[in-house]
Amino acid sequence: MGRNVFPVVFDGHNDVLERLGGPDGGGPGAFFERGEKGHLDLPRAWAGGFGGGLFAVWVPSPKTSERTPRGLPPALDPAYALRRSLAATAMLFRVEDRSGGKFRVVRTVAELQRCLDEGVMAAVLHFEGGDAIDTDLDALHVLYRAGLRSLGLVWGRPNAFAEGVAAHFGRSPDTGPGLTKAGRELVHACNDLGIMIDVSHLNERGFWDVAALTDAPLVATHSNAYALCPSTRNLTDPQLDAIAASDGMIGLNFGVHFLREDGAEDANTPLEVMVRHINYLVERVGIERVGFGSDFDGISVSQEIGDVTGLPRLMSALRERGYDDQALRKLAHENWVRVLRKTWGE
Ligand SMILES: [Zn+2]
Repeated sequence: MGRNVFPVVFDGHNDVLERLGGPDGGGPGAFFERGEKGHLDLPRAWAGGFGGGLFAVWVPSPKTSERTPRGLPPALDPAYALRRSLAATAMLFRVEDRSGGKFRVVRTVAELQRCLDEGVMAAVLHFEGGDAIDTDLDALHVLYRAGLRSLGLVWGRPNAFAEGVAAHFGRSPDTGPGLTKAGRELVHACNDLGIMIDVSHLNERGFWDVAALTDAPLVATHSNAYALCPSTRNLTDPQLDAIAASDGMIGLNFGVHFLREDGAEDANTPLEVMVRHINYLVERVGIERVGFGSDFDGISVSQEIGDVTGLPRLMSALRERGYDDQALRKLAHENWVRVLRKTWGE
């Protein structure tokens, strides 16, 4: 591949920490070797122009056939969730320690901007679900000081704060109740601390509760448009309009089953499907409010993307469809920087 001529990408979501920590993940050292497995490591990131993003700490549900009355995996034991979350958070810091200054966990917009300018990979610590956080919010305060700057209230199961959606095609995201009292308190605490609240995975009532409570921009780090792909994980037009009204943003999820009209998990999906999605979102919420939230290492991508090295092919397709340099910079990272600045402060 020739030199990447596109603006550096800052991305709203990846699950590489979970992959590195898994049975075949190889631990923190594997992040520095060009791998065949998964989507993201440092050598492939450089090749693809990926300069950083939100690195998710996600806790898998233990294997069980138990389901809640609404068909979700049951809430996690908070002690288990905290132990697993600390393991994944430690993985992030071990990667930083071994990077020789090439990878930094950033806590401010100034640090993020410096990394993007200097070619250092910037990582924002993100928790995908509040399962590890107690309702006294002690863990939240400690994690904030450790570097937590972004929190999805839920993954696809209930917790003390809210309820997520199961990923279902052809069904509305209005699948269950809104935030609990503790969930409303969590929103206020995140606003006070300057932790970004992520509405991806939240059910629709939870979304509207957050919209009514928060004083920060509404952000869906890795979700798509329901109008083009009717999945519970995607955002309806009224939700997109609320995000626009709050000057928030949407990170495009590269998962083919969240992109395709038929919801199929089929890697034989043309880039054009991603471009159509970007076009739709840009038309609905504006070029200032769309970015990427690849979900690398968490979903199946189009074979035309393949892994993070395929990002320039997406950028090139967008350029061919009329996105100029200024628009590409916004999509690639400027919108994320703006929203994080509005959320975290200077
Ligand atoms: Zn997710």
